[in-house]
Amino acid sequence: MLDPEYADCRYSNHNQHTMVNTSEFVNGDKRKLRVVIVGAGICGLACGASLREYADVTILESAAALAEIGAAVHLAPNAHRIIKAFGGELIQTGAMPCKSFQEWSAKDNKLVINSSFDPLVDAGCEWALCHRVDLQKELMRVATTPDGPGSPCTVLLNSWVVSCDPDNASVTTKGGQTYHGDVLIGADGLKSVVRGQVVGDSFRSRPSGHSAYRALVPAEKIDNHPDLASLGLLDNRITMVNGAERRIICYPTRNRQLLNFVCALPDSELNEISEEKWSAKGDPQALVKSYASFDPIWQELLRQTGECGLWQLRDQDPLDKWIKGRTIIIGDAAHSMLPHQGQGASQAIEDAEAVGACLRGVAVSNVPTALKRVFDLRYKRATYIQQISRSSGLGSMRKEYLAKLGQAVNEDAPLNPIQYRDFTWNYYGALEWEKSHPEWIV
Ligand SMILES: Cc1cc2nc3c(=O)[nH]c(=O)nc-3n(C[C@H](O)[C@H](O)[C@H](O)COP(=O)(O)OP(=O)(O)OC[C@H]3O[C@@H](n4cnc5c(N)ncnc54)[C@H](O)[C@@H]3O)c2cc1C
Repeated sequence: MLDPEYADCRYSNHNQHTMVNTSEFVNGDKRKLRVVIVGAGICGLACGASLREYADVTILESAAALAEIGAAVHLAPNAHRIIKAFGGELIQTGAMPCKSFQEWSAKDNKLVINSSFDPLVDAGCEWALCHRVDLQKELMRVATTPDGPGSPCTVLLNSWVVSCDPDNASVTTKGGQTYHGDVLIGADGLKSVVRGQVVGDSFRSRPSGHSAYRALVPAEKIDNHPDLASLGLLDNRITMVNGAERRIICYPTRNRQLLNFVCALPDSELNEISEEKWSAKGDPQALVKSYASFDPIWQELLRQTGECGLWQLRDQDPLDKWIKGRTIIIGDAAHSMLPHQGQGASQAIEDAEAVGACLRGVAVSNVPTALKRVFDLRYKRATYIQQISRSSGLGSMRKEYLAKLGQAVNEDAPLNPIQYRDFTWNYYGALEWEKSHPEWIV
């Protein structure tokens, strides 16, 4: 554990993986960069993994334990290949490779899309259907294992940051402890404390008018059901049942032990009140009632839900800055997005990689320039995907945002899926993006 005051630089001899020439003696700064990250979520841990080779990293997390609520997250090749490059092994730790997509129309219960693919062949990396707990554990392992490059990150739980000084890269916790770094990274999610100090009060988020139920159902309940077993829901597949104003999306995870659901619908169709809290519980009976217009087979599927969460989906306009002094916000703190494209965590992971790439070998005096580079490389892409996530929303939300993007409203094809897939999946890190997509750099 680090001394909380963390004011003195540490000259410790790191293990044999430390790459002395990239970081320890840079431009006369005879020490590694000291980085303080607020938040040990997906973004904060990935950022620690990205930096550990050449920086001393301390991650402060408000929670007493890293116990993500039960739910799954899918990582497309753009994010999964970054985790692999960090040494993470998601498939070996239970994530399932997605190899097909089915879309059913709720109106007439017809299969409208049934496509098969292999991203490992097409994009060189699997599309990983992960349990969030497994993903977070694996990121924690990669960030803190003594066997990794450089020095393990120090993760301090029960460390709730209440204020920060962006120009001096320092934070203070509720317990009154202050941590100083050369760089401060706000990876503290939607309700970021760091963001307030970086952008002032310009951040606004508002209810999008939609909410999402989330649930995990044990595989036996599907396998042993006379009608549900034959649907193939536990195959390596994402299944969507689309009812224009509401949707069911489900896929298997944790070595096919669980089926994950996300059911998004307008608040006006809820039979209960949603809250802006990931841990808020929903009522499984109210969930089924909200899907009464769907074919009985899908209602029967929802009836398998034992316990579910109900989450109010919030909408955020893009921020125009992520940086102040020696501080940058990344992940949901900078660009939280609606979940309709499943790219929130992936964009957070891309940010984390960009921070690592831009701070490599940088002297303390050049930190603000390096952070500006992160912003320049990441801003247009993350903002575009944030906007696309809005425009692939439901019902009138989709129309409103497509209109803002100047795109035609076409109920059947709001986006060209192939172009969008290529845009998101064909990402090979921030520096390669800078070379191959100069028009996407600020
Ligand atoms: C229904 C739903 C489905 C989704 N599905 C997908 C999907 O399939 N694919 C995908 O890519 N994304 C998905 N997302 C989005 C994704 O979950 C988020 O974008 C992602 O979790 C953001 O990661 P983060 O680390 O930036 O923020 P968070 O996950 O919110 O982590 C922030 C961390 O900071 C800590 N923290 C907060 N404040 C403080 C403080 N003051 N001091 C110290 N610590 C603090 C928190 O405890 C937390 O650990 C989904 C989201 C929802 C709601």
